[in-house]
Amino acid sequence: MSLLVTGTIGIDTVETPTGKAQRMLGGSCAYFAAAASFHTPVRVVAAVGGDWPAEHRTMLSRFRNVDLEGLEVRPGSKTFAWSGRYFDNMNERETLFTHLGVVEEKPPRIPSKYADSQYIFLANTHPAVQMELLNHLPKRKLAVADTMDLWINISRPELLQLLRQVDGVVLNYSEAEQLTGVRNAVTACRKILDMGPQFAVNKKGEHGAILVHRDGVATMPAYPAELHQVVDPTGAGDSFAGGMMGHLANAPRFDLQSLQTALAWGTVTASFTIESFGLDRLAQISRADIDARMKLFQAAARVG
Ligand code: AMP
Repeated sequence: MSLLVTGTIGIDTVETPTGKAQRMLGGSCAYFAAAASFHTPVRVVAAVGGDWPAEHRTMLSRFRNVDLEGLEVRPGSKTFAWSGRYFDNMNERETLFTHLGVVEEKPPRIPSKYADSQYIFLANTHPAVQMELLNHLPKRKLAVADTMDLWINISRPELLQLLRQVDGVVLNYSEAEQLTGVRNAVTACRKILDMGPQFAVNKKGEHGAILVHRDGVATMPAYPAELHQVVDPTGAGDSFAGGMMGHLANAPRFDLQSLQTALAWGTVTASFTIESFGLDRLAQISRADIDARMKLFQAAARVG
């Protein structure tokens, strides 16, 4: 049940058609950890710089199941910072800047008490950092990686090496196309399986997600959010992965059916993230809210 995540803890500035938020807590690791913490305890391995705002630690500490012992503060370094702007449809965005800061330095240290971690999520960060951490976790039962356009562009060889060593991969529709050259979500995932993993999840934002596993294919609709419920989609992908891995950390198997159920928990967990800027909405809810929404989702998505 020991779920470990590495990735970025970021300072995000985000513009959406509904407004703008400056220098808030973000990063792939922060969203993942907060989301997964509703399902299982999470160990964070990440680094921030001396400029990391104290209120960001306060926010992350509100998630009681998140263990921050592996969060390294490097006084002389700069925290990862990212800015993005969403287009009117909220499904697409452009990156305004990415300041890698600590992400370009040596990987964060893994506390010795985390060495027994069995469930590993390599959230978005440099593939060389993802790989280095994976190599230090010999007890792993399930390792899943995320990636993104920047890393496919600037470190494809390291990424391909990483894909040979993980069990699963989660990525966006456009990133799957960028990685494989194939537009069709299912066929793109099949090409990714040829690169090594047992399964690939292709996320299509408001159009749901597709899972391709060595044993078959599953499809998951998005949560049917109302217009007013979509405030800031940032972190939806990481929260989806958090809900998914949080569920899998307690599941007896990682077969197609367990993964399909995990995708539903990911979808429902992420549907809260987008209701506010940053982690505000996740910080307001409890597991009971997620369970209640899961019931609504099951009814809405029922087939037959
Ligand atoms: P998502 O909306 O799920 O794709 O995740 C957005 C989060 O990822 C933001 O909070 C950013 O700080 C973070 N992020 C953006 N670009 C990168 C990158 N190249 N590597 C790691 N994290 C990133």
